[in-house]
Amino acid sequence: MLTDAERAYVRPELLEVVENRKSGLSLNWIIGCPLDCGYCVRHLFDNFSMTVPRALMRESEAAALLTGHPFFEPHVTPIQLLNRATDPMLPVVKEHTFEMLRLLDEQELTNHVLVITRWRLSPEDCAVLNSLRHLKVTVLITYSGIDDARVEPVNSEIAATSLRTAYAHAERYRVILYWRPIVPGLNDSPVHLQRALALSSHAHATVFTGLFYKDQIRDYFQAHGLPEPYAEGARRKVFPERLEQAILTAAAARPPGASPLFRKTSCAVAYAHGLPDYNGHVGVRELCDICPAAQLGRCTSGWKQPEARDVAAMAASLGGTLIAVTDRAAVVSGLDEQRRYRIQHHFGFQVHDVTKPHHPHRHGRADLGWPEPAPEAS
Ligand code: SF4
Repeated sequence: MLTDAERAYVRPELLEVVENRKSGLSLNWIIGCPLDCGYCVRHLFDNFSMTVPRALMRESEAAALLTGHPFFEPHVTPIQLLNRATDPMLPVVKEHTFEMLRLLDEQELTNHVLVITRWRLSPEDCAVLNSLRHLKVTVLITYSGIDDARVEPVNSEIAATSLRTAYAHAERYRVILYWRPIVPGLNDSPVHLQRALALSSHAHATVFTGLFYKDQIRDYFQAHGLPEPYAEGARRKVFPERLEQAILTAAAARPPGASPLFRKTSCAVAYAHGLPDYNGHVGVRELCDICPAAQLGRCTSGWKQPEARDVAAMAASLGGTLIAVTDRAAVVSGLDEQRRYRIQHHFGFQVHDVTKPHHPHRHGRADLGWPEPAPEAS
């Protein structure tokens, strides 16, 4: 357990154990990771040097914080475990992850729970995950195929083996190939694409996505002489149009039986469980042009444009203002990301900030690597 003296050196954001992210309410009661990926989000918290995982509190306390959080809705709010500053399957962390899953499952909660790992998963671990009775558990195995050890010291074969094991033993939980980050010059050669796409047969769904090239991560790349993939930093994930086209073309040539590709994490999670997307991406219809027809049907019938007065009331209760509800998204002002996701998860409908427009056909990504934006459509 982290002592009070040690806490004084940790940024306050990392001591906030519950944080609302797009894929779900995120519970981070353990921080520290030895895996040292060059693009780790720990750079954003000045925490990259903390390589030994340490608990901020016990599982029972953390579970109570989650279920007592004002943004938590039983059976509705998606949950993510230990996705910010450690890996939930590290040997010293794993038992804590499983204990948290048991605590939540005992409460008969049926919420989605996302467990994202790039580390080892054994058949015994799979048995624990299969023993959960209520939660909708999804294991997302992060695989990049990056072979520059300066950027990613952990061999991607570890993740590939975990993926095969997790998929082979999946009964009650679902498995996603989390193919990321895909970065020009590092892992976008035809050989890299073929290797990753071959793994997509060992998953219920596959997500492909880019790099969060925020300034702190760019600083790390520069300070360590790493090849810089982009000439500037970006607030959103970077995924150039050319790269997306190369992946979709290569994916189209896969043999039958490979899992479908998704641009968004929640789409893959929802598909894997046979449910509509909980982030309401179907309102941004061009996102769905690669989705299986049955899933598009599920999302379309599960999606409803909310009443403006209901969204306005929730926005106001969170301290913001509704600007408009369009047929794609609710547009709000005065709400940070965490509050916007609260509304988005509640209504299953996209919520965008009026000052950060989503350009059509950009799929919510950074502008880098795309033509000049077309006029805003929503
Ligand atoms: S239909 Fe659209 S929103 Fe639904 S899972 Fe597919 S891509 Fe996502």
